[in-house]
Amino acid sequence: MGEDSLTVQHPPIARVALDVPVDRLFDYRNTDAATADIGRKVRVPFGRGEAIGVLLELTDSSPIPPEQLRMLRSIDRTIEPLPDDVLATLRFAAAYYQHPVGAALAVALPPDPGTGTPRAARPSAWRLTAAGREHLASLRPRAAPVRHRLLSMLAAADAVPDAALAGGDQGATNRRMLQQCLQHGWVEPVPEGAPRADAIAPAPSGVDSGDAVRIPTAGQARAIAALVAGLDRFGVTLLHGVTGSGKTTVYLEVMRRAIAAGRQALLLVPEINLTPQLESELRDRLQGARVAVLHSALPPRIRQARWQAAALGDADVVVGTRLAAFTPLPRLGLVAIDEEHDGSYKQEEGLRYHARDVLIWRARRRNVPVVLGSATPSLETLHNARRGRFSILGLPDRASGTLPAISLIDLRREPRDRRRLPGPSAPLMAALAAQLERGEQSLILLNRRGFAPVIRCNACGWVAGCDRCSARMVLHRRAQALRCHHCGRDSRPPAHCPDCGNADLAPIGLGGERLEDALAGQLPGARLLRVDRDTMRQPADWTEARRRVRNGEIDILLGTQMLAKGHDFPGLTLVGVVDADSLLYSSDFRAPERLFSLLTQVAGRAGRGQRPGQVLIETSVPEHPLFAALIAHDFDAFAAELLDERRPLGLPPWGSQAILRADAPELDAALAFLARAVDCAADLAATVRVYDPVPAVMARRAGRSRAQLLVQSDERGALQGFLAAWRPRLEALRRQSVRWLIDVDPLEL
Ligand SMILES: [Zn+2]
Ligand SMILES: [Zn+2]
Repeated sequence: MGEDSLTVQHPPIARVALDVPVDRLFDYRNTDAATADIGRKVRVPFGRGEAIGVLLELTDSSPIPPEQLRMLRSIDRTIEPLPDDVLATLRFAAAYYQHPVGAALAVALPPDPGTGTPRAARPSAWRLTAAGREHLASLRPRAAPVRHRLLSMLAAADAVPDAALAGGDQGATNRRMLQQCLQHGWVEPVPEGAPRADAIAPAPSGVDSGDAVRIPTAGQARAIAALVAGLDRFGVTLLHGVTGSGKTTVYLEVMRRAIAAGRQALLLVPEINLTPQLESELRDRLQGARVAVLHSALPPRIRQARWQAAALGDADVVVGTRLAAFTPLPRLGLVAIDEEHDGSYKQEEGLRYHARDVLIWRARRRNVPVVLGSATPSLETLHNARRGRFSILGLPDRASGTLPAISLIDLRREPRDRRRLPGPSAPLMAALAAQLERGEQSLILLNRRGFAPVIRCNACGWVAGCDRCSARMVLHRRAQALRCHHCGRDSRPPAHCPDCGNADLAPIGLGGERLEDALAGQLPGARLLRVDRDTMRQPADWTEARRRVRNGEIDILLGTQMLAKGHDFPGLTLVGVVDADSLLYSSDFRAPERLFSLLTQVAGRAGRGQRPGQVLIETSVPEHPLFAALIAHDFDAFAAELLDERRPLGLPPWGSQAILRADAPELDAALAFLARAVDCAADLAATVRVYDPVPAVMARRAGRSRAQLLVQSDERGALQGFLAAWRPRLEALRRQSVRWLIDVDPLEL
């Protein structure tokens, strides 16, 4: 055997993580896979069929006898392998969140472009991807003339209208070629309503923007300097800035510095709806940087192309929702998480990870800094900052203007006859009318979709309930439907009471549609726009809505918490909150924290331009301490109070929790399973408290009865040790029709 041997010997055993509900790796015989293939997607025989997995290890021996090992079938080398730090982060997450390792790894793989996705209508325009640019550069015109001509056309412009490609003599040829290029990830449709130059293309320089050149305020400059000084190492910094203090300016400037130093930056945002706005800001500030936006609403092909660009180091910035936390980034130099308190960072199915927490783990491993931004940080983050684990940088002042004046409308003082009327209170109506008179914009928050949350028979008291959930059906009058907001069940509203036949069915309570009608009736001529999941079905709808608001085509914006987050409408001077109390009463100990955050966010939309803003909040409990803190803009005092309340109870962030959730067709079966789970924990539970099984707050959902059991400990490590020992025992329990899962660090009780 010499240096000139042509056959390469690879380690004979490939260890693969498969997306199956069994928490172990599987061994296969290997001839083809080399060390460089670790992290790649592979196909293997599994049972009678085939499974997709990720190659994790190559070794020389297996506990399984060689004759029983089956052969690794194929390796997908068309996309980059998951790199070491992503694999390590996923293995950590699988262990921490008590999820099978192969199923956890599947979360990080880009979606397979070959599968799924209903055929979309033809896009109105096309553009080249980074991969397409690269391909074109290496393509000889005579080798593939049609492809070369098409890609060159696309390369010459930011976006080429579909009509220009698919019409004319060459139309049919072009359409076929476009389809091929799309499959290779060389071209992509330009998202409707999206600004044209984006994708992974460089941001153009010299973009015009109303407020393009922003000189940092003194506070911002201090924060930027501190963060830039920490760019060379791991550290977590909480950027605690009031609404309108310009946290984004700070992230973007620090990102710009990191990119200038040859690094990649990852920016996490809570909502897809925020990304169009951010994209345009990124283009303004990070001129020349290549930006890739990642979220689950993208077609798989585009997501894969952008994922690939990030993995190859072709994208300088990745902006995305929680799933972007696992994007491969070879030159990663900075992680920023906007609105770090936002509940959407916690995945509520499958691998129930918290994107912030896994990213902090990953950043420590990569030795890069993390910035967490919020006006109302989660108590977990605040607690870490107070204990000195995280640093804090404060931005106590708005970048321009002042914080809005907040006042309460005491609903108990409303005249009795008015209280029954569904709609805003008289003082709020008067304020809206005054706004119209002055020609200023208003926003009304009502966090409830549909027309009315209940319909009831006035004769016998029957109410429409969902027969699959313990929930009422919500009347959606525009769609002529009764809908369950929990399982999606949809039916036509009955004309008569199904119990007594009476035709007098009355909507009870106030939803967004009804609020819209009340405003239209009392403020004729006001231009209204309702924003919720029913009216804003895709990001493009929201982009158009924002354009209309910013152009002054809307007088009153009303809607759900979708309106609260991150939007900057300079003309908005009044924010009204209808029925805030409904969010205050809940069995969940986090309800006040969430309400404070929501009200701060929505109040923060007021007065961001030249004119000062005012905020009016309707409540029947004006004496609640939450409101006093809100009016004083004193988050710290409110947070301190909540922390003091939770401390003696050992609630997070003082202690750690996990919930064992079980569901079954019948509640008894779920409760019986949980009782067995308690029994088998008896000898393990020295350092944790295992509470009694109870029915879930929503005891029935989508036809299954639900129960749960809480485990709590003062020590995170003790809880982790307990869960690791408990889970194999749970897996061995008799479960019949019961489905169960462990939710670690649950955000919903
Ligand atoms: Zn009836
Ligand atoms: Zn339902």
